[in-house]
Order: sequence, then C-alpha cells, then structure tokens
Amino acid sequence: MTDCLFCKIVSGDVPAEVVRASERTLAFRDINPQAPTHVLVIPRDHHPNAAALAAADPGLTADLLREAHEVAAAEGVADSGYRIVFNTGAEAGQTVFHVHAHVLGGRGLNWPPG
Ligand code: C5P
Repeated sequence: MTDCLFCKIVSGDVPAEVVRASERTLAFRDINPQAPTHVLVIPRDHHPNAAALAAADPGLTADLLREAHEVAAAEGVADSGYRIVFNTGAEAGQTVFHVHAHVLGGRGLNWPPG
C-alpha cells in the first residue's frame, strides 16, 4: 500500500534500524522504545492487523511468530522472558495499520498492561 508507513520501511523509502530480515518478514527497532528490547516484526506483505493476517496467510503468521522468537533470542531475552504484543484496533492502541508484533523484554513487564 502506497500510503502505509511500514510498507515504506519494507521498500526502503522510510529508514529503520533493521535487526533481522527474512524472505517474508522484517524486524526493526521501535523508534520510541518502551523497554530495553523493543523490536517490531512485520510481514513484508501488507495486512492491516493480526486477525486479517491469520485469516489470509496462516503460514506467514507462523513465520512472524518464529521470527519474533528469533529476535528475542538474538537480543538475549529469550531465557529471562519477553512479551509479544499485537495491538489490534484503535482502542487497543494500534496506530499503524500494517500488522506488527512488538517484541518487548530486558526489564520486568507488568501485568495486566495498561
Ligand atoms: O501498536 P502500534 O500501532 O501503536 O505500534 C506502532 C509502533 O510503531 C509504535 O510503537 C511506534 O513507536 C512505532 N514506529 C516506529 N517507526 C516509525 C513509526 C512508528 O517504530 N517510523
């Protein structure tokens, strides 16, 4: 989608600090980190949210979760614990409507989130 910020990161038109890339996914550091590790993992294809991705492409959904775990391992937070978050819909805090998994770790994380 031409007006999608994360599609522009995929195409290279908007810069991002990429930490991991696969054929179908990209992982980059969040510009406003909420934890010592805060990486976003996205599919290169545009899907508006996690539900739409799961319905359209279960294989890519699995790839995204695997990549999120690989990011956590590479960041050194896999053993201590980390959180994968999909904000889905405006009321849940989703502001970019290209599905992204937040990978958060490196500090104690409160539950429930605000
Ligand atoms: O879940 P939500 O849609 O709110 O997450 C969007 C995330 O994208 C935010 O955490 C924001 O900091 C991040 N972002 C980014 N790079 C941009 C624009 C937004 O990492 N250029």
